Amino acid sequence: MRILVVEDEKKIVNLIKRGLREQGYAVDVVHTGQDGLFQAQEIPYDLLVLDIMLPGKDGLMVCRELRKKNINTPILFLTARDEVDDKIQGLNFGADDYLTKPFAFGEFLARVRALLRRGKEKKTNQLKVADLELDQLTRKVTRAGKEIELTATEYALLEYLMLNANQVVTRTMISEHVWNDDFDSFSNVINVYVNYLRKKIDENFEHKLIHSVRGTGYRLKG
Ligand code: CA
Repeated sequence: MRILVVEDEKKIVNLIKRGLREQGYAVDVVHTGQDGLFQAQEIPYDLLVLDIMLPGKDGLMVCRELRKKNINTPILFLTARDEVDDKIQGLNFGADDYLTKPFAFGEFLARVRALLRRGKEKKTNQLKVADLELDQLTRKVTRAGKEIELTATEYALLEYLMLNANQVVTRTMISEHVWNDDFDSFSNVINVYVNYLRKKIDENFEHKLIHSVRGTGYRLKG
C-alpha cells in the first residue's frame, strides 16, 4: 500500500513517515498543495493524507480539484483548526475522513487502516489464499497454520499480492504500490524480493502459490 502525505510541518511529517514505514507502507511526502495535486495525478496512490493549511494551494482546493478530475483516491484530512466549517467543507469536497491536530499516532493509524479497507471494499483485516493467511492488524502471516516471519518490505509485497490474488500483478503495479519515491526502476529489486518471499512462503510446500507471468509480473494463486 502506498500513501502520499501532503504536509508542510516537519514534525508531523517525520512522525507520520516513520510510523507508516514501520508498518510496512510505502510513503512519499510533498510539502505544498501544488506538488500534492501533481503527484496524486501521476501515481495511483492507495491513500492521500492531506493537510488543510498549506503554502499556496490549500488542502481543500487540492481535494476539490482531484475529485473534479475523477481521482477518487481516499483522502484523510489533517487540520490544526477544529472549526466545524472546515471539516464540513472538506467532506463536501469529497474527503473521506479528517483528524484534528495534535493527534495520537495510534488514532491516525486506525483511520488510515479503515480508509484503506474501505478503498478495497473489505470488511475484514484477514486475507486468505489457499492455506496462506495474513492478518493486516497484527501483521501475522501463517501458512498451513505455521507462522512465517517477514521483513517489512516482504510483508508489504505479500499483502499487495494477496489483495490482488488470482490477478496478474505487473512489476509496474508493484513498484507503484509497494515502493516509495526512492525506488530505482532499473534495478531487479522486485525479483529479489519475490525470491525472498518464495523461499519463505513456497519452498517447503508442494503446492506453489507465487507464479511468474513471463515478461509481465506475478500472480498469487490458491
Ligand atoms: Ca500546515
